[in-house]
Amino acid sequence: MRLSENALIVLKSRYLQKDSDGNIIETPEQLIERVAKAIAKADENYSATKEEIEKTTNEFMDVMSELKFLPNTPTLVNAGRPLGQLSACFVLPINDSMDSIFDAVKATALIHKSGGGTGFSFSRLRPKNDIVSSTMGVSSGPVSFMKVFDCATEAIKQGGVRRGANMGILRVDHPDILDFIHCKDKEGEFSNFNISVAITNKFLDALKNDEEYELINPRNKEVVGKLKASFVWDEIAKSAHKSGEPGIIFIDRINEKHPLSKEVGEIESTNPCGEQPLLPFESCNLGSINLGKFVKGKSIDWDNLKKTVFTAVHFLDNVIDVNIYPLKKIEENTKKNRKVGLGVMGFADMLIDLGIPYDSKEAIKLAEDVMCFIQKISKEASSELAKKRGNFPNYKYSIYSKENIPMRNATTTTIAPTGSISMIADASSGIEPIFALAYYKQVLDGKRLPYVYERLFNVLKDRGIYTEKLAERIIDNRGSLKGIEEIPEDIRKLFVTAMDITYKAHIDIQAAFQKYTDNAVSKTINMPNSATVVDVKEAYNYAYKNGLKGITVYRDGSRQEQVLVVAKKE
Ligand code: UDP
Repeated sequence: MRLSENALIVLKSRYLQKDSDGNIIETPEQLIERVAKAIAKADENYSATKEEIEKTTNEFMDVMSELKFLPNTPTLVNAGRPLGQLSACFVLPINDSMDSIFDAVKATALIHKSGGGTGFSFSRLRPKNDIVSSTMGVSSGPVSFMKVFDCATEAIKQGGVRRGANMGILRVDHPDILDFIHCKDKEGEFSNFNISVAITNKFLDALKNDEEYELINPRNKEVVGKLKASFVWDEIAKSAHKSGEPGIIFIDRINEKHPLSKEVGEIESTNPCGEQPLLPFESCNLGSINLGKFVKGKSIDWDNLKKTVFTAVHFLDNVIDVNIYPLKKIEENTKKNRKVGLGVMGFADMLIDLGIPYDSKEAIKLAEDVMCFIQKISKEASSELAKKRGNFPNYKYSIYSKENIPMRNATTTTIAPTGSISMIADASSGIEPIFALAYYKQVLDGKRLPYVYERLFNVLKDRGIYTEKLAERIIDNRGSLKGIEEIPEDIRKLFVTAMDITYKAHIDIQAAFQKYTDNAVSKTINMPNSATVVDVKEAYNYAYKNGLKGITVYRDGSRQEQVLVVAKKE
């Protein structure tokens, strides 16, 4: 395996097996073999012969060791090991009772320990100061109960595979919505949570007509107040402008686009980074194709990509069978729908290899072409599996049954952030642009060396203009080439960073991927420090108009650390 220095550091710190003294007892090759063998074993359930299983094991090993495809972190860490929990994404329901709240806390602890992330809607909890009939007391409300989850996450983070992450959702029509919107205004509060407001169609209508909308007590469904939609929209945008949170999700759109009918349940939350809406007690395992590995000359190697998608879907479907679930109920629900989330990383790398700037019409077109292809092939692959293994059990409630298309998985595609696996693959993360084209690398004896993004380094070398001084100038320019005149214009145009491009260019790419993704797309919409609250609201409108399921904006400098960034530093 050809691994970068950075990849080795990441693998050693969290992925490679250790003995009880903390000594590493596994090589990266052995890790790949352990994972491939454990996942291929599921084929035994479908009467595969020994030879067939060996062939599948080799296919799985090849795509992983060539860094063409990697499953999400819990699969890499836990497959073939006693914990055996392989999914990154969970959603747990929280009903309006102490039993339910603390059952969810316990399940959360078990999931975090194994490297999974949890999402919850707190919308079913009665508002603060509402009655508690059993004690004649008053309730403390969703935001206060979120603290319990935050503290539990904090307490168990040391022993786990990685620090746990949570998504907290509240519907915009919950009476405590204003408290929720501002609950993370102070840096450090709810540091184990990302939060998002679930925006309803009713709210959007009220916003359009500049009207009030109703606040509903979930305990008895009574209308307990009204708020001006434009006021709440402002509050959300102001808070996001100030601190990067809350995000918003378009909850009715998410349910409208869900391939399963309401009889199966209603989606009320996503996982921590927003890319995976799930039903209560459902989990999903993800995996990502490294697009940077599929450029041949100046074009895309579609045949190879097709083959890899087939292998990846086979892999992800097998994961559902060999997974050891933290709760019986999660196992049952997950196996009814068999959702998997195949996505991509290295999109920015691919663009650069093809000579296409991230903020261009061609980039939008490429995003659509690539994801349309992956979506289509992943459906073919799932359909093939269904012919051999059967449809997913809830098939009859799905859009596929209406068209009589066999399907093994209720969903096949999700665009994950790939925060850690992109480091292992040495790829740009998810569908994000390059964050910084150069930065200082700490080296031994306290000396810092400038490190330049390899593709840029090669071009600068080829043109004979690379010097360490130039690298330092890029670093001083916050990793951007903007305004560095000694770098030729064509290079400056191609190598753009997340901060160089407009929020619209970010949203255009998210929208292009969302168009061909069953689940959702993880993406940060970067804005300059000078962006205004009005800009944030415009971004929300643009996101809705372009079909996004949710959006998170991040204004430069507005928050020191975000939840998953912190997680990775530890
Ligand atoms: N996740 C988590 N803790 C982390 C990072 C990720 O719980 O520190 C979960 C979370 O549900 C997130 C999902 O894993 O949405 C996928 O994140 P990512 O793609 O960054 O994970 P990777 O597989 O690269 O580790």
